Amino acid sequence: MKKIIVAIDGFSSSGKSTMAKELAREVGYIYIDTGAMYRAVALYAIRNGWMTADAIDEEALRQHVGEAVIEFRPNADGRSETYLNGENVEREIRSLEVANGASRVSTLGFVRRELVRRQQEMGRGKGIVMDGRDIGTVVFPQAELKLFVTASPEVRARRRMLELQAKGEAVSYDEVLANVVERDRRDTQRAESPLRKAADAVEIDNSRLSREEQMEIVRKLFNQLTVDN
Ligand code: C5P
Repeated sequence: MKKIIVAIDGFSSSGKSTMAKELAREVGYIYIDTGAMYRAVALYAIRNGWMTADAIDEEALRQHVGEAVIEFRPNADGRSETYLNGENVEREIRSLEVANGASRVSTLGFVRRELVRRQQEMGRGKGIVMDGRDIGTVVFPQAELKLFVTASPEVRARRRMLELQAKGEAVSYDEVLANVVERDRRDTQRAESPLRKAADAVEIDNSRLSREEQMEIVRKLFNQLTVDN
């Protein structure tokens, strides 16, 4: 079987990481969550006092971003968790505060260049499923399979709210919807690598698809490209 690169892009809470993880597990590929890398940089900046509610100390972040060692290690259940300079930060990076911070640091060109370089390095041996906003357009424009995942903002806000509530964060639907809409705006309108569908990406709107229906579509596309004939 031929090894390929699968690039999955889409809006926040579109279900792209669920899809990416499931595909990677099924086919035995490495899964890389690039959103977690931007979240880890945001946490690093917050902890060091370089990012507050209304400002980012760009000079300090530029100088130190290369020192943020970001790794993925499997937990006891085999699920990948994010480590920042050796510390497990998986839980902390999933908060709304860090999500917002990630969307802010991801507008900085020097942060993007640093993380894109690391991501391209991770994909050198292929056999990888990577999800994010610019994977099919910037990180791996040569990826054999590109997917662009969408769902309506209301559907995404509801999913995100249930996820956060399950983790014990007290959030309202309106607050989460506002966060989803604001992140969509930043992701699509930023000057540096804005979120857009690559010309050769397959678009999947999963507003009305079950997880399994969505996986059937993805599995078929993957098999068409990898099964030798
Ligand atoms: O996917 P996730 O919501 O975890 O991403 C967090 C933030 O990181 C997003 O809002 C987006 O602004 C940014 N991001 C990005 N490019 C990527 C992945 C994430 O700009 N490849």
